[in-house]
Amino acid sequence: MQIITTKSDLQAVVKACKGAKKTIGLVPTMGALHAGHASLVKNAVKDNDVCFVSVFVNPTQFNNKEDLAKYPRNIERDAQLLQSIGAQYVFAPTPEEMYSAEEMNTTFEFDFAGLDKVMEGKMRPGHFNGVVQVVSRLFYLVQPDKAYFGEKDFQQLAIIHHMVERSSMAGTFGALQIIDCPIVREESGLALSSRNERLSAEEKETALAISKTLFASLKWAKEADATVAGVQKRVIDAINAVEGLEVEYYEIVDQKTLLPTNTFANAIGCVTVYCGPVRLIDNIKY
Ligand code: AMP
Repeated sequence: MQIITTKSDLQAVVKACKGAKKTIGLVPTMGALHAGHASLVKNAVKDNDVCFVSVFVNPTQFNNKEDLAKYPRNIERDAQLLQSIGAQYVFAPTPEEMYSAEEMNTTFEFDFAGLDKVMEGKMRPGHFNGVVQVVSRLFYLVQPDKAYFGEKDFQQLAIIHHMVERSSMAGTFGALQIIDCPIVREESGLALSSRNERLSAEEKETALAISKTLFASLKWAKEADATVAGVQKRVIDAINAVEGLEVEYYEIVDQKTLLPTNTFANAIGCVTVYCGPVRLIDNIKY
């Protein structure tokens, strides 16, 4: 496995792969890798001739400086994991290598067709501008045939699909296919997240109430008199009743438009919860 830190080295390797007619899979990550990331990488290794994994804590998608500073980083451990599951190339640039000073300090403009106005986009202004900025740059540099993203970040996935489907970009990214990968959970149900590393053992136990409540809500949604608004309130109340947890939002929305819905057909419930100072997200499809 080769670790690449500059855009020019990356482009040289990509050129050689393309010249040898190899298909390329890309898995963008921010590192502090866990079995959730590994599931994406395993798919990319299986489906393509070569697999590139980017490990880059993208500063432009953090609207909270403390969150950025505290984001876990461990490139040595990440490299070991990636080597053990067969990734061929790791791209781990510095922010200065990735962006000019101007790019770092100006918001990347993009037409989200409203997909950034709800949930994560509403709570973290500018977050998805940074996500689209980094992902479009990675697509440009790596020219993947397939790129792998987790349903854990469901709104991000919807926005990436929108970005690739937009006609002006379809030409840019050729026949790029976005592969949706299911959420990987601990046996307890807790969705794996790099941010879980910041939880104490006790907080991790407390956080279990999030997935437990989401799973319970599948049953609540099947009750004879169930309404979307009723289930939404019940989820929020159940999580907030647990000491140490505070719901930021729980929205039940259409899986495609991300707009609020009043039916459970094609609906997904997306939650953000503070467990102490750590912000956790999860979701469930109805
Ligand atoms: P991140 O490093 O948090 O930016 O995540 C990189 C990719 O891994 C994103 O596409 C995430 O959606 C995906 N991912 C993170 N956690 C999980 C998980 N528990 N299950 C599946 N995919 C995940």
